[in-house]
Amino acid sequence: MKILVTGGAGFIGSNFLRYMVNKYPNYEFVNYDKLTYAGNLDNLLDIDSMPNYSFVKGDVCNLDFLTEILRDVDVVIHFAAESHVDLSIGNSLAFTKSNTYGTHVLLEAARVCKVKKFIHFSTDEVYGDIINGKFSETDKLDPSNPYSASKAAAEMIVQAYSKTFKLPIIMTRGNNNYGPYQYPEKIIPRFATDLMMDRKIPLHNPNPFRTYLHVDDTSRAVDIILHKGVIGETYNIGTEDEFRNIEIAKKCLDYFGKDESYIEHVQDRPFNDLRYSVVLTKLQNLGWKQEISFEKGFIDTLKWYEENRAWWEKLILKN
Ligand code: NAD
Repeated sequence: MKILVTGGAGFIGSNFLRYMVNKYPNYEFVNYDKLTYAGNLDNLLDIDSMPNYSFVKGDVCNLDFLTEILRDVDVVIHFAAESHVDLSIGNSLAFTKSNTYGTHVLLEAARVCKVKKFIHFSTDEVYGDIINGKFSETDKLDPSNPYSASKAAAEMIVQAYSKTFKLPIIMTRGNNNYGPYQYPEKIIPRFATDLMMDRKIPLHNPNPFRTYLHVDDTSRAVDIILHKGVIGETYNIGTEDEFRNIEIAKKCLDYFGKDESYIEHVQDRPFNDLRYSVVLTKLQNLGWKQEISFEKGFIDTLKWYEENRAWWEKLILKN
């Protein structure tokens, strides 16, 4: 089986590749990534010389190139996207281009090349927020920011390709991930790296809840969906581990031995979803269960950032 992974130099894509390349020596993996500021081949140093792994630099908006690359590919797993909500509020067009148009181009290339399976990685943010209860896969999409809207729009095109062209598609919707190699713009690595540099941590709104799943559990979920997921179905990937932003801030302060004077209250997003939560029964019925508790995964992640200063200092200096 030859699998093309888009966005494989980013946080989740690189974790997935590291897991899969080692687990399936008989599968061939191609990492297709544009290498934006968030794409980093240092994330893949431990697998880049493996015989079943290769890297191709490319944009998901490039139809001609993709149609060439996908010729002998069996499966596409699509992670590539602009992923940072705050940036989408500043430059939303880049999000529509890569996340919506780019997904459309990739679907078209997959259709022309008769790809046998297309797994689209979306986000639970497409449902919008929910104050009480949980969203299941059949609930309506109601995104609130340009990032989640670009992902929801991509889902509409994915659905159209599934219905009109019978492209064999499986949809997944992940909740917030955390873990090693996450770009230090997202909440946990941002707070950790700021505190390690003795800087204050920017908190735009203490109240919203977010759920946090360790990225290793997400990779295991996508592996299970690849092998056992049903074509045409959608699977939420998530956890019940939910915390307010202020709780994450305090946990980081505790770990690094700092007090609350290190919190800098900054202006909130113009609109900030208060809570996301998803039903996980469909994924669990495929045999997946969360293996890494937040308590353990969070401490391991902060330790990883302490022990891998060179990895993140390079990114902070570059940008
Ligand atoms: P990331 O920002 O760390 O990585 C994104 C990767 O995509 C980078 O390597 C980047 O170079 C690449 N990329 C961006 N635009 C591209 C383009 N036009 N062509 C080719 N490559 C391009 O993101 P991530 O956190 O790893 O997220 C991966 C996917 O998971 C995204 O689709 C995101 O929407 C989704 N997601 C992320 C989370 C999360 O918590 N991180 C949660 C739910 C869903």
